[in-house]
Amino acid sequence: MRLYNTLTRRKEPFEPLNPPRVGFYMCGMTVQDRPHLGHLRTFLAGDVLRRYLEFKGYQVVYVQNFTDIDDKIIQRSHREGEDWRAIAQRYIDEYLETARQMNLKPATYYPRATLHIQEIIETVQKLLRQGVAYKAGGSVYFDLTKFPAYGRLSGKRLEDLLAGYRVEPAPGKRNPADFALWKGWKPGEPYWYAPFGKGRPGWHIECSVMSTHYLGQPFDIHGGGMDLIFPHHENEIAQAVAAHGKDFARYWFHVGFVRARGEKMSKSTGIFTPVLEALKQVSANALRHYLLSTHYRNPIDFDFAHVHDSERALERLFAGLEEVESEGTVQDLQQVPVAQELLQRFEERMDDDLDTPGALAVLFEGLSVLRKTSGVEQRAVKTALQVILHTLGFRPPERTPAAEVLNPVMDILLEVRRRLRQEKRFDLADYIRDSLMAAGIVLEDTREGTRWKFKR
Ligand SMILES: [Zn+2]
Repeated sequence: MRLYNTLTRRKEPFEPLNPPRVGFYMCGMTVQDRPHLGHLRTFLAGDVLRRYLEFKGYQVVYVQNFTDIDDKIIQRSHREGEDWRAIAQRYIDEYLETARQMNLKPATYYPRATLHIQEIIETVQKLLRQGVAYKAGGSVYFDLTKFPAYGRLSGKRLEDLLAGYRVEPAPGKRNPADFALWKGWKPGEPYWYAPFGKGRPGWHIECSVMSTHYLGQPFDIHGGGMDLIFPHHENEIAQAVAAHGKDFARYWFHVGFVRARGEKMSKSTGIFTPVLEALKQVSANALRHYLLSTHYRNPIDFDFAHVHDSERALERLFAGLEEVESEGTVQDLQQVPVAQELLQRFEERMDDDLDTPGALAVLFEGLSVLRKTSGVEQRAVKTALQVILHTLGFRPPERTPAAEVLNPVMDILLEVRRRLRQEKRFDLADYIRDSLMAAGIVLEDTREGTRWKFKR
């Protein structure tokens, strides 16, 4: 498999340090607000990369943190008069519920910054002892002039940063671009005691510490949104490499922006729509399909109308699969060339830097193959398509308990309607069809008889 590495700016063969194990750290939410569609894209891309690596036989240790102490959480706490811990917990809970509904595989670990304070303090002390950090005005800063490799990931030049980088000046900072490892206490803010003064950790040091705590250093993949390349990930590298004298992450996986262009921003259809609200209008599968229709490194101009297109495309696909009664066995799958070929082409697409638009195209081509085949061949193709769907994280549409309960009743109704039509009493037959439609049940007349499903 080849994966684009932001650090080297090219696609590289993916070779983990200790196969079959893969260590994968994903920068998670700063839990100060509800997860929205813009956030979702990054976590979904991470989910699909992880699922695909597992499909290829790797054992992925997937770590996704919660930044549960941060300027924005504190600001919100002051503004709304609510305890910062309650705010953080509420949005951690909502993230986990969002992940559950979106079928994002649970992380192996979900570390929280506030549960790693002691290690963060030890790392800051280490950086102070090594002379790459200094104390100023109650805070501790990283001294960029002590880390000449700074800027490699983002392609920025240290000289430029030192000369012209505009950030808020802080008392005693040596360079404006130096960043805080530890933020000195201010009245009204939460704090922890540390040998260098009471305060709280900076955002960047949290991720350096939590990633290497669970994955060791160096580890295989570090991911996040493209907006994190600078300064967040650049700073993570500087801290971790300076503290431990070893490389940090080997592959940097960055997910493109979701833009709001080309769409009137509305509270219920824009990219800032909380995912749980969007899921009241569209299915998790449709959102997944829509977001995977663009390559993960390209920007998406978010358009809710296209999510509805995805919904319809998937309905066609699942309906096609449902028409084939039984599935093939593993042997069928291995012995039927047309099924093998589908899987092979799926792998070729995914092996090329996770080309999910190409993989989805293979899936839908598979639907027409399914319609052209029969018997063992058809069952094997069905199984191949199910393997692809599962690897991309789609959930089979649920057979709702309601459907189980309704089935015998519907059988009676459909039989009555069939007899009415036979007797040409179409007014009554249509009455049954239209009333069911109004109640949210759609009838489909086929050669094999009438089928029913819930309207979405
Ligand atoms: Zn991070």
